[in-house]
Amino acid sequence: MASHIVGYPRMGPKRELKFALESFWDKKSSAEDLQKVAADLRSSIWKQMSDAGIKYIPSNTFAYYDQVLDTTAMLGAVPARYNWNGGEIGFDTYFSMARGNASVPAMEMTKWFDTNYHYIVPELGPEVKFSYASHKAVTEYKEAKSLGVDTVPILVGPVSYLLLSKPAKGVEKTFNLLSLLDSILPIYKEVISELKAAGASWIQFDEPTLVKDLEAHQLEAFTKAYADLESSLSGLNVLIETYFADVPAEAFKTLTALKGVTAFGFDLVRGEKTLDLIKSSFPSGKYLFAGVVDGRNIWANDLASSLSTLESLEKIVGKDKLVVSTSCSLLHTAVDLVNETKLDTEIISWLAFAAQKVVEVNALAKALCGSKDEAFFSANASAQASRKSSPRVNNEAVQKAAAALKGSDHRRATNVSARLDAQQKKLNLPILPTTTIGSFPQTIELRRVRREYKAKKISEEDYVSAIKEEISKVVKLQEELDIDVLVHGEPERNDMVEYFGEQLSGFAFTANGWVQSYGSRCVKPPIIYGDVSRPNPMTVFWSSMAQSMTKRPMKGMLTGPVTILNWSFVRNDQPRFETCYQIALAIKDEVEDLEKAGITVIQIDEAALREGLPLRKSEHAFYLDWAVHSFRITNVGVQDTTQIHTHMCYSNFNDIIHSIIDMDADVITIENSRSDEKLLSVFREGVKYGAGIGPGVYDIHSPRIPSTEEIADRINKMLAVLETNILWVNPDCGLKTRKYAEVNPALKAMVDAAKSLRAKL
Ligand code: GLN
Ligand code: ZN
Repeated sequence: MASHIVGYPRMGPKRELKFALESFWDKKSSAEDLQKVAADLRSSIWKQMSDAGIKYIPSNTFAYYDQVLDTTAMLGAVPARYNWNGGEIGFDTYFSMARGNASVPAMEMTKWFDTNYHYIVPELGPEVKFSYASHKAVTEYKEAKSLGVDTVPILVGPVSYLLLSKPAKGVEKTFNLLSLLDSILPIYKEVISELKAAGASWIQFDEPTLVKDLEAHQLEAFTKAYADLESSLSGLNVLIETYFADVPAEAFKTLTALKGVTAFGFDLVRGEKTLDLIKSSFPSGKYLFAGVVDGRNIWANDLASSLSTLESLEKIVGKDKLVVSTSCSLLHTAVDLVNETKLDTEIISWLAFAAQKVVEVNALAKALCGSKDEAFFSANASAQASRKSSPRVNNEAVQKAAAALKGSDHRRATNVSARLDAQQKKLNLPILPTTTIGSFPQTIELRRVRREYKAKKISEEDYVSAIKEEISKVVKLQEELDIDVLVHGEPERNDMVEYFGEQLSGFAFTANGWVQSYGSRCVKPPIIYGDVSRPNPMTVFWSSMAQSMTKRPMKGMLTGPVTILNWSFVRNDQPRFETCYQIALAIKDEVEDLEKAGITVIQIDEAALREGLPLRKSEHAFYLDWAVHSFRITNVGVQDTTQIHTHMCYSNFNDIIHSIIDMDADVITIENSRSDEKLLSVFREGVKYGAGIGPGVYDIHSPRIPSTEEIADRINKMLAVLETNILWVNPDCGLKTRKYAEVNPALKAMVDAAKSLRAKL
């Protein structure tokens, strides 16, 4: 019985690649230094998998930046603006495409399916001339071989590559990306023939787009592509790997009928329906790579349950054709549990990071062929049992309260326009009121204070006085700028999810549980392991302190339940919505405590609401329904005169605008300045929006300082489609990453613009 790993994290157990990359980019180390770190990481991963007993070990799962960009390099599809002169693509061109350089901006980056990983989007048009310009896949195969490890080289499949691309500038609306299939397949053939010559006996094509809602002509492209590759693939075992959801029935039919393909990989963690398709119509004589170990989460596998799934699959495909695998690349989970020395031992026993998942895969494969490691399985069974019954997981009161929410509909009793009237009586704001999104610049000094307090190097008293001083500076600045609704600047927060997670029960934090987000950037999601509750108020102390410093309204600042959920590793022992409802109840307590403390404007950020949207359209409505419901639960208990704001990042709202309206916030501020027209077009097309709305008037991602005129111009465009009395004036997002030298003049321009327009209205 064989074992397989779909892909592996590149960063290293302590983010070694991140530091090597950044030092190379800063010109503090050489290309050779970077290559050495990368080669060491690769060889240790190969060794680890081969020591664990994995049969099908991946190569070319490593990338200096991104595997899709690697494919762009392999195909020589470098956009003209990078002035590449042909030949083998080196670091210069590669990193220019990834990050831009002094004269040219980077290529676009977008989310990889519904993960938090971002890939570099290929830009393809009729002009691209493809050439075999990066031999990386072959080089890595040979590198592993010279270390004594025969690997399965991985390529992003040709059809997924094209479907994940975007048409180049100028041909956005007209160009058919799939028309390039015939031009890229010859390059794939060259790679395949070199891999064969180097001794490869297997090859893996990742074709994850097969789990999406594809049209018939897109499915046909798969048939066509693999028929074309068939003869060059002969002599190789060919695995087509899918992941992140179940493969729809039509796609399953197409996939399993592909010519020249000998093996199919499925995500059996997220794709429960795929199991039925396999049971009813898996082609005989082919290999099934069964992804039973979750690559998207950090939980130890329930080995007994996986084993029984595998045993039933074995009856269908045959003993020699079943391969135990991960649900997707382990890129999306943390790297190695051995570096978690501070986590509680009971919680550790419930977890498995990438390195531990490799061991689980192998243990399952061995158990299937009769050499079950009884000790390993029984330790796993007791960990599963302890997780089920542990008092730190279960809080009956919370479970009851959350269960009571299902199926009900929580809404504030008064409608939004009446609420806005009541609030205006109290707040007395000018038209086009100005505000900011929450954070102010985070200086090195501020980070130092937080770090030292955490490490208990400074006293609580000193910490509080340092933060108080920072808040008071931010308050003064906003008063000087004459902003209408103030914020305290969030100086006490490291991260908008971690800050709340640390104060809620049911959350754990890792020391090194990093997951690559893009390039060298990693995130360290909290782990939600138990029922969530709020033992104590979390923000009331700071918010009331800030409010006491000014007569103007001070916004209480919270992160919403959906965003906390979407940016954490979540429980797999209950549905996501249940966890979300629990968080919503905790935030509700906080909202009500802020109100009691005299805070009249409360912002509940749902920065990540949109990114939790499921891959398949058929699942959108269900998600949006519980996500929006969770948001409403947080503020259903406040008085009409308490103004609830929300904020959302990401500029693409048009398809979910009705859900946004259904959130029933009094005011929403949204990131917008890079996509003005798009957002406004929704309103131009007649969508009624009665609540307050503040589409960002300038881009905070750039150091550029906007002029008063351009901001006024933007506001005027908004006024053309939105009622004057609902429009707010604010930046795109928080100011955390900016410098005061940028923030001061930018906010001044913003307030000046609002004032000059008020005078004319
Ligand atoms: N209130 C948060 C801030 O200003 C919002 C951040 C976000 O939307 N990502 O930093
Ligand atoms: Zn934002």
